[in-house]
Amino acid sequence: MDFRDYKGVWVFIEQKDEVVASVSLELLGAGRKLADKRGVELAGILIGENVKHLTKTIFEYGADTVYVYDQPIFKHYRTETYMKALLECTEKYKPEIILFGATSTGKDLASAVATDMPTGLTADTTELDVEEETGLLLASRPAFGGNIMATILCKKYRPQMATVRSKVMKALTPQTGRTGKIIEETISLKEEDIRTKVLEIVKETVKKVRIDEADIIVAGGKGLGSFEGFQLIHQLAETLGGAVGASRDVVEAGWIEHAHQVGQTGVTVTPKIYFAIGISGAIQHIVGMKNSGLIIAINKDKEAPIFQACHFGIVGDAFEIVPILIEQFQMA
Ligand code: FAD
Repeated sequence: MDFRDYKGVWVFIEQKDEVVASVSLELLGAGRKLADKRGVELAGILIGENVKHLTKTIFEYGADTVYVYDQPIFKHYRTETYMKALLECTEKYKPEIILFGATSTGKDLASAVATDMPTGLTADTTELDVEEETGLLLASRPAFGGNIMATILCKKYRPQMATVRSKVMKALTPQTGRTGKIIEETISLKEEDIRTKVLEIVKETVKKVRIDEADIIVAGGKGLGSFEGFQLIHQLAETLGGAVGASRDVVEAGWIEHAHQVGQTGVTVTPKIYFAIGISGAIQHIVGMKNSGLIIAINKDKEAPIFQACHFGIVGDAFEIVPILIEQFQMA
């Protein structure tokens, strides 16, 4: 493999309902730094139906070029179709680095692409850098239960690929009117050749606040005792107009879905206010919420490690304190 054939930093642009995902904008910010350090182009790769108009946003957030696949076959995300487009485009233009958001789509697509190419993938990255001379991507992520940061290198293959967590990179301030080069690609794929069919899209009827975009998160832990006890967390979150977060043990107990898990193997969040209620404060939880603006912990054990990580701590029983908070906030 001749590394000199590979040039440029790419960001896979995730979009839904014709809106670019915030993690993709953050990755354009991170990708811009890597591209500038290497003196190469930053490109977005955009796949979907009726998405070409999104190139405007992608340029304003820092891309020089956007590769666009805008075809009906890409209306809904399917691993098979998106993977084929990405593989074809990568083969043709040979980027040195490709970044994906560590979202359910990004993780699915990046791992599918990596298995079909002779290259590796660093998952769940939280820090990125590049060696100016060699172009070697330095992708770092917590390892060994969050006790160390491991920098993972892909020395033998190109492109180098990483999925990157939401909210750990910063989007650039958009430059209105900034433009770039659009390269339109088409793929000759027929619907009958695709094994996955989308039969129906079921939209959520209740509009819930997304955990990675919420200003206020009320997170609960095993200290809530049961599924019924955990409903107190939902009540406080609803009162405050916030999202519900959870520790891994709560997710494993089946009290809430994995999408709400905060921490090393869940979501990284940076809300303005984070309530940690009945959560002990294991390092794997802390790494996912430590950059929150204000952390308020409620725990009946005054020695609980969460009190080392919070700004305000209340030592006491959640079942006594949370109802008082709900009542007070409802009156405010
Ligand atoms: P516990 O540790 O059981 O803590 C419950 C707390 O509630 C205790 O501090 C207790 O004093 C308090 N309490 C009990 N009753 C009450 C009451 N009535 N009122 C107030 N307080 C009360 N964890 C995550 O959260 N996110 C992750 O992403 C994650 N990833 C992991 C990855 C790996 C590789 C590993 C090994 C572990 C990971 N974990 C993760 C698990 C983590 O180590 C802890 O086991 C988990 O966070 C503990 O959850 P908890 O705080 O809810 O439960």
